[in-house]
Amino acid sequence: MKIRILGGVNEKGRVGFEVLDEGVVLDFGVKRKLNGKKEEIYPLMPLKGEYLLISHVHTDHAGAVPLLESVKIIASDETFSRLKDYILEWMKTCDLWKLPIDADKYRNFLEKNIDRVPLPKEWTIGESGHVPGSIWIKIGELLYTGDINPSSASFNMNLLPKARILIMDTAYGDEKILGPENLSKIIEKNREKRIIMPLPPFGRSQEILDFLLKSEIEPLYVDEVILENYKGRFKNKAITGFPVGIYLVSDGMMTSGKSLEFFKKFAGEKKTLFLITGHAEAGTPAHEVLKMNGIRVIWKVHPSPSECIEIVKKVEPEFVIPFHSTFESAKNTLRNIEKLGVKVLKPKIGEVIQV
Ligand SMILES: [Zn+2]
Ligand SMILES: [Zn+2]
Repeated sequence: MKIRILGGVNEKGRVGFEVLDEGVVLDFGVKRKLNGKKEEIYPLMPLKGEYLLISHVHTDHAGAVPLLESVKIIASDETFSRLKDYILEWMKTCDLWKLPIDADKYRNFLEKNIDRVPLPKEWTIGESGHVPGSIWIKIGELLYTGDINPSSASFNMNLLPKARILIMDTAYGDEKILGPENLSKIIEKNREKRIIMPLPPFGRSQEILDFLLKSEIEPLYVDEVILENYKGRFKNKAITGFPVGIYLVSDGMMTSGKSLEFFKKFAGEKKTLFLITGHAEAGTPAHEVLKMNGIRVIWKVHPSPSECIEIVKKVEPEFVIPFHSTFESAKNTLRNIEKLGVKVLKPKIGEVIQV
C-alpha cells in the first residue's frame, strides 16, 4: 500500500492522507496558524484522489475541501450537513486575520450544489466518539481512526477492526489527561470571576454544556451557535452587562465570533478567567490569554496515551502512523507502542510511504 502524507503528521492541524492505490484522500484540513504562509496553513494537493473521505467536520479535517474541485465526497449526514457552515467560518477567519485563501474556489464551493457518494462496498466505517457523525474508516489493510475518543461521556464509539496499517490520532502526545471533575473543581475555585470558555461550535461544546448542567453548574450565557447543536434543555436568561458567571462562547481558539469579542473586551482583565479546554495554536488569542488571565484544562475528545496503547492492542497493526501531535511530544507513547512489536513510522509531509 502506498500512502502519501499531505499534512498533519508531526504537527497539529491540516490533516490529510492520500491512499494512492485506492485513489482516496482521507481528510483535507487547514491549520489555524495566524501568521502562517499558505504552505503552512493548507495541506499538499493530492496527486490524483478520486474520492475524499471527510472523517468529521472540524476545520483541521475539512477546511481545505473547496480546493479539491472534482472529488467524490464521502461523509456522514452530520458532517455533510454542517460542511458549508464550517467552510464559511474558515473564510471569515481568513478575512479577519488576512490569511491566504483561494477565495474563488471557496466561494464557488459555497454556491454550487455539493453531492455525496455512497461508501464503496469494500470499505467499512464506524462511529469514532469524537463528535456526532465522526467516523473511523477501514480501506483494505488500512485503518484510519480520524479523531477518535474511546471514552466520551456523550458520543458512541464502535469497536475497531484489525488492520495491518493504522493511522492513529495521538493528539495529546504524552500529556496526562485529568477527568472531567477537574473542570468543575477549577470552576468552583473561581466562582467570584467571569469565567469565559471558548469552545468550538460543535462537539466539545455540547459535551461540556451537558456535563455542567448534570453537575448542576448553570452557565450564565451559552452562544447561540453552541445551542443550535445542543439537544438538551437550556435557555439563556436575559442579562445586562457582563456579570460574574460562566460564558460558553465560540470558537475555541478565539479567532472569530463571540469568543473573539470577549477576548477583545476581557483579555488581561483581573476579574475574568479564560478557561481553555482544547488546543491553542501559537499566535491565536487563546494562546495569548494563557500568558495573561487564562488557564488550560483539557476536556478529553481524543485518546489518552493509555487509550492509544489499547487501540494498538485491539487493531494489532504492523505499522502505526501517528498524526495530530509532534513526534517529540508523543515520545513515550510512541516508544510504548514499539514495545508491543509494532513499527512506528515517522514520515515527513510530502513523503510517500510504501508498506
Ligand atoms: Zn476534531
Ligand atoms: Zn482533529
